[in-house]
Amino acid sequence: MTIADADSTAAQIPPQSTYQHRVADYWNAEENPVNLELGKLDDLYHHHYGIGEVDWSVLDTGARGAPDPEGAPESLSAADHRRARITAELHRLEQAQAELLATHLGPLTPEDRVFDAGCGRGGGSVVAHLRYGCFADGVTISAKQADFATEQARRRRIDHKVRYHHRNMLDTGFPSGAYAASWNNESTMYVELELLFAEHARLLRRGGRYVTITGCYDDAYGRASREVSLINAHYICDIHPRSEYFRALARNRLVPVHVQDLTAAAVPYWELRRQAEHLTTGIEETFLAAYANGSFQYLLIVADRV
Ligand code: SAH
Repeated sequence: MTIADADSTAAQIPPQSTYQHRVADYWNAEENPVNLELGKLDDLYHHHYGIGEVDWSVLDTGARGAPDPEGAPESLSAADHRRARITAELHRLEQAQAELLATHLGPLTPEDRVFDAGCGRGGGSVVAHLRYGCFADGVTISAKQADFATEQARRRRIDHKVRYHHRNMLDTGFPSGAYAASWNNESTMYVELELLFAEHARLLRRGGRYVTITGCYDDAYGRASREVSLINAHYICDIHPRSEYFRALARNRLVPVHVQDLTAAAVPYWELRRQAEHLTTGIEETFLAAYANGSFQYLLIVADRV
């Protein structure tokens, strides 16, 4: 298969709305330790949350112990050791989310091509490539993120298969029907779903697979709660109701094959993160309150392009 113009420098970025400029500004400036410190551990940088049970023993590390003996400069103090273990545990949970998403993309061959919509610093595309050997195109509206991710791929020597582009995921300019699978990992809340799913449907071949993991507000609760509105303000995003996903998928030839409520699996991550003083961003209690009051859900949706 030949794909024209996979070079990140070649395409013009289509005109962006003022809102999209603000989103790009946000991600160009973003340097949160919760993203950078976790990513540094194995050079897999994620900008999503985590799922699964926490190993709570990480909180005990060093709690009663004395600092390591002096004169051993390479050893960490007890407090540093505890922080390092919490950081690693949060990263493990974020990685588990990336892996869960990737399992639903397959089966794929090394000849297949996948599209990572709203790719952040690029970890998700690397995870998919390592699992399937496939080609990947990640797209972010942040030039800084695209450059960062490109450099990571180069260092890993996978830049001949994994490429990142500074583009609008609603209007990628990529060839129609060229992709076996595509996804959004926590990036649907920045765009209108109708436009987003139209672009995925255009890019996916018939029988191709679309996967999203996203926070959504629960129609059964009513409208967006105070907590959902606070999350929107924090990230400059617009969290959609659950119903809107299925309406917009159906209108764009994307038929769900698997839907999973990940809310319960997402809570432990936040319970740990709220206690990670060195990594908190101030939104932790809001997420926990939103999950607890039933206004917010964490959802996995897997759909086939028909
Ligand atoms: N999927 C990534 C990053 C999620 S953060 C991960 O799991 O790590 C949200 C991402 O969406 C950011 O990278 C942001 O730049 C991107 N984004 C938001 N609006 C976009 C748009 N219109 N086009 C492309 N990327 C967009």
